[in-house]
Amino acid sequence: MVVEVINTGTELLLGEILNTNFQYLSRHLNDLGFDVLYQTTVGDNPSRMRETIEHALGRADIVITSGGLGPTRGDITKEVVMELCGLEGYSDFSTLCRIYDFLAAKGVTPTPNNEKQAIVPFGADVLENPAGTAPGLWLEHKGKIIILLPGPPHEVEAVCETQLWPRLMQRFPENGVLITRTLRLRGIGESSVATRIDELILKQSNPTIAIYARHGEILIRIAAKAASPALAKELIASVEEKIRASLAKYIYGADNDSPAAILGERLKALHATIAFAESCSGGLASSLITDIAGSSEYLKGSVVSYTNEIKERVLGVNPETLKNPGAVSSKCACEMAAGVRKLMDTDYGISITGNAGPGMSEGKPVGLVYIAVANRTLVYWQEHHFDGNRTENKLRIAQAAINMMLDKLQQV
Ligand code: AMP
Ligand code: MG
Repeated sequence: MVVEVINTGTELLLGEILNTNFQYLSRHLNDLGFDVLYQTTVGDNPSRMRETIEHALGRADIVITSGGLGPTRGDITKEVVMELCGLEGYSDFSTLCRIYDFLAAKGVTPTPNNEKQAIVPFGADVLENPAGTAPGLWLEHKGKIIILLPGPPHEVEAVCETQLWPRLMQRFPENGVLITRTLRLRGIGESSVATRIDELILKQSNPTIAIYARHGEILIRIAAKAASPALAKELIASVEEKIRASLAKYIYGADNDSPAAILGERLKALHATIAFAESCSGGLASSLITDIAGSSEYLKGSVVSYTNEIKERVLGVNPETLKNPGAVSSKCACEMAAGVRKLMDTDYGISITGNAGPGMSEGKPVGLVYIAVANRTLVYWQEHHFDGNRTENKLRIAQAAINMMLDKLQQV
């Protein structure tokens, strides 16, 4: 089954927002065994949108649009499709009630243009939207399926999870499934991973194996296509076993695991607590840790000690250290880590100090970063050199600090 995804919205063409709906849709459609062969983005312009949908119907079996189902005049996707297919619409009472209920629950008064969202083309099925006012629509036209989805990503996901995926699976049971599993590795480079599993990669067909480097870790994605999820999982398991045989000591987790989540598990098991002193990462390491539910069990608190004044006054860094060798130094990192550990009375203190860019600071090059981990008796430090832009560097620095803490715990 060939699918074309059409993402509508002039803001996408202007580059104002990232087309995350496409990523979400294509990933899931592939997992469900559909061949997503085309993706088009078109602005909120009726004639170009009509032309795009018409073109898609000429080359795909299923056309899925996102966006343009809102209440305003600029939201035209449904109207364009109705005109193209020669369909009239009616006001669907149960959809209208659902829209009013949804708005009432939020304390919002409906406006007359909300009624436009309850118009359903004759012959179309409503895909209820549990997260918003615009329902999705499923319609069939000249042997093709046209699916209209709202624009906001959380609404797209809500409609797909509750309505669209089950319906597509029911309609195309013969499609088979594509199941993927991602192994996550630390402490090894992409080329070493590729070398060690080279033979497996050369022989691959189903499952396929792909290696990616991302945010300081290596991901190995195993994807298997089979008639049922159970069969696909079997295929994956046998390849995973072979990969683990050569890379086990670098594999720290799988799928949605993250170093922050694994660190949390380890800290909980050890009943240990941590605190961060963050300079150039601006609190991002603490933020990554607090993305994990329950992190208050081990993260007591952190200090964003961006200025030398705070490094000295709050963390107790020696003013002589700040003069020479300076704030971007292993010495300062060690004093920050020990200082925050003491201040927060935790088992470990983790510090980050460096130059995230774009210019030189204290005569230190961009990307030079020191990370330190203090326990009750000792302080360890590492020197890193990052070469991304400021935002990328911040993330990689924060991740490096979490990784260093994880490595230290593995040595406990
Ligand atoms: P719309 O229903 O087209 O008015 O879209 C509503 C909002 O959803 C837009 O303002 C965007 O913020 C978001 N949105 C629409 N399409 C996409 C997309 N393809 N990817 C990510 N966000 C989107
Ligand atoms: Mg729009």
